[in-house]
Amino acid sequence: MKIGIIGYGIVGAILGYYLSKDSEHEVHVYDIDTYQGTKNAVGIICPWVSQRRNKTWYHIAKEGVKCLHELSCDMNDSSFMIQNGVLLFHENLDRFYTIALDHAKEEPIMGIPQILNQKAMTSLLPPYIKIPNQALFIPGGFQIEGATLLERLKQKSQIQFHQQWAHLTGDCGINGTDFDTICVCAGGFTSDLLDSFDIDSTMQKGMMLTLNDTYQTLPNQPVIMPQGEIDILSRNQVIAIGASHQDVFDSFDVETDVIEKLLLQTKTTIPSIKMDAIDSVMVGVRSVSKDKTPYITQLNKNVFVIAGLGSSGLTTGPYLAYKLSQFILKQDSDPSIFDARRVGEK
Ligand SMILES: Cc1cc2nc3c(=O)[nH]c(=O)nc-3n(C[C@H](O)[C@H](O)[C@H](O)COP(=O)(O)OP(=O)(O)OC[C@H]3O[C@@H](n4cnc5c(N)ncnc54)[C@H](O)[C@@H]3O)c2cc1C
Repeated sequence: MKIGIIGYGIVGAILGYYLSKDSEHEVHVYDIDTYQGTKNAVGIICPWVSQRRNKTWYHIAKEGVKCLHELSCDMNDSSFMIQNGVLLFHENLDRFYTIALDHAKEEPIMGIPQILNQKAMTSLLPPYIKIPNQALFIPGGFQIEGATLLERLKQKSQIQFHQQWAHLTGDCGINGTDFDTICVCAGGFTSDLLDSFDIDSTMQKGMMLTLNDTYQTLPNQPVIMPQGEIDILSRNQVIAIGASHQDVFDSFDVETDVIEKLLLQTKTTIPSIKMDAIDSVMVGVRSVSKDKTPYITQLNKNVFVIAGLGSSGLTTGPYLAYKLSQFILKQDSDPSIFDARRVGEK
């Protein structure tokens, strides 16, 4: 079978890995690496403390965590995972503790949630962090480094990579070349690529920033999830803070007012933070569906789309990619994985 994949973010890369394992198949990947979500993500994997009531989302997310662990075992490589746990700073910790304990019964992978006091956190966090009296610690929460994961997958996959913009052509073609199957994994650009369809995906912009080396990190520093939009973590030995969620935007440029808002939220946890501490700003886009649930759908019998991953796509994407690979390889024939409501004719 000749398979074409559009997009080499986490979804396209994991699909390419599993599909090309079987040397019977020829797998071609097209990617232009523009404002990619995966490389520009913060990278937190900790779905068990989410307050979302969306059961489909939670199912995909918790299974996604397992897929990441299984992928790392399969590749014999965990260099893309930094497993120092997640600390939740919140004024209403009891509510999150209850949610976490509930999930921990069914998800041993998350470890045993614990409430830590200030003293217990002092050795885990650098001195410029304002440590609250108590925080919730999820030992199995972790972070992934998107660029490293994509690089490792590329080394271990038998894919043919085309660094070019892809267009769908004919019934099942990319840039004039015919395929037996095509998978569209174009992230925030899904609706641009499929502009002749009515597809449930809008583009959301996200900005993440890193701090200069006056903010040193500790080797085993856990991810901090303070109350609000931002998260703080150590990424390649620098502090990264993100992310913004911009549904309305005029350009992919860095906007100072958005950065100022992120810094303002950071001040509660890093009181000394100032604009001149910023070393770099990264911009990525996400695909967001109307009900904020990720999905797989079909344009026709042989063209599949994975989209709507939103702000937790590094967590949910691996499960959808794995499921679709198994369907294409005919190891899972369950058609209920497809959500037909997500696409229509224009
Ligand atoms: C700032 C930010 C922070 C985030 N933090 C987290 C987090 O902490 N935890 C979490 O779970 N998720 C997080 N996410 C979400 C997550 O990063 C995304 O949902 C996920 O990476 C989407 O993966 P993807 O493979 O669908 O798309 P992407 O990673 O965006 O990849 C799509 C690729 O397709 C390419 N492409 C698109 N159209 C074409 C075309 N026509 N031809 C060729 N190439 C094309 C693009 O250039 C891109 O390289 C964050 C996202 C952002 C932006």
